[in-house]
Parts: sequence; structure tokens; C-alpha cells
Amino acid sequence: MPRRQRTGECVYCGRTGPVTADHVPPKCLFPRESRLNLMTVDACNTCNSSFKQDDEYFRIVLSFRSDLPQNENSEFLKSQTKRSLKKVEAKGLRKSLRAATSLRPLHSEGGIYLGHAPSLKIQSSRIIRTSDRIIRGLYSKLFGVSLPQIYEASAVLLDLQRDGSAINHPDVQESLKLVVGTGVHKKYGDVLDVYALHVEDDPFSSMWLVRLHEVFSFIGYTNPRDA
Ligand SMILES: [Zn+2]
Repeated sequence: MPRRQRTGECVYCGRTGPVTADHVPPKCLFPRESRLNLMTVDACNTCNSSFKQDDEYFRIVLSFRSDLPQNENSEFLKSQTKRSLKKVEAKGLRKSLRAATSLRPLHSEGGIYLGHAPSLKIQSSRIIRTSDRIIRGLYSKLFGVSLPQIYEASAVLLDLQRDGSAINHPDVQESLKLVVGTGVHKKYGDVLDVYALHVEDDPFSSMWLVRLHEVFSFIGYTNPRDA
């Protein structure tokens, strides 16, 4: 189905011209039946089409998590990943996933060796790129104005810090308490849970906590680019 084009301002690059609806967070993370009424923002064609591969990668990484809750949402993610890996054109993707997968020792919480399990080395820069974009998109949706281009949206992935260094940092703990306690809250089924809060006297600086599929979390900030 061709996308409906209008004239507007792209939330991501700020250019005015033909725009279409871009889903935030990416549509591919939501089961089909829950896709009605998802949040969308205006995006130009250049931005919109540049997201596709990163979105798919994001979904694949999420679907490989062993701690996903067992429900129809996670079943959907897994089935979509299976499908996309079977496609003929996914040859490059299969190859890079194979190269990034290694067998790692698996231990129980009590430290008992449980054998080896495949583990995926994640290209965190790609995951961060998508997370940054999710914050910029959600900013415009939740606060009703686009984040000016002189501001950047940046995400810190909480669960890639395996030693817990980010999440345990007192500043981060303080931020999270504030955001969750006093921020705007938006929930979309069990797929998206987001808190957002404007900070200080700056009209566009904000803090975020985003949770996807109950297991993948990142905190985010919007700040003037040169601050
Ligand atoms: Zn754009």
C-alpha cells in the first residue's frame, strides 16, 4: 500500500517537504493485531527509508534475548526473526549473525555450569542509533513539539552494561527516581513503557526511561548539541 504523503516537517532531520508517518517505536516491534493506533510522527522519505535495516536488527537482537517473558508479544518477535532470516535476500544478515555468534559458558544464578549456549555479539552502535531515534520521535509525540535540530537525543543502554555500572551510578539512580516519580507516563500494552520529564530551566532538555517488551531498557536525554 503506498504511503500517504503530506507536506510537513520531518521530526528527525527538520526538513520541510513531503512526509509520511513513521512509527515510534518501530512498528516491527509490535504484534500485527496491536498495530492500530500506534504512535506515529512525520518523517521525510530519506529518513524513513534509512531506518529499515536498523529496525530489523533491533527486533532480531530483542528476539534473541533469553529473558523475554513468554507471551504472544515475544512469540511474535521470534517468529518474525525466523521469517526474516529465511528470506533469500537475508544472506548477508545470516552471515553476519553467524560470525557474531559464539558459544559461551552458561551458569545458573548459583554459579553452576549449565553447558555452553550460543551468544550474540551485539553491534551496540546500531541499537543505540535506533534508541536515539525512538527518543526523538517520542519527544515530539509526548510533548507535542519537535525537538529542535540544535538538540540531540541520546540513549544509554542499561542492559548492555553487564557489570551494572550505569544503572548503579548514583546520578543515574537519582535521575530514574525523578523520571519515574514525576514524569509523563505512557504505556502501550506490554510492548512499550515510557517515562519522560523536562529538566532544569531549559525548554527542550529532558530525561527518559524507555522499556520495551518488559526486558530491554534504556535511559535517554535530550540536550543542546554543544553542551
Ligand atoms: Zn528527515
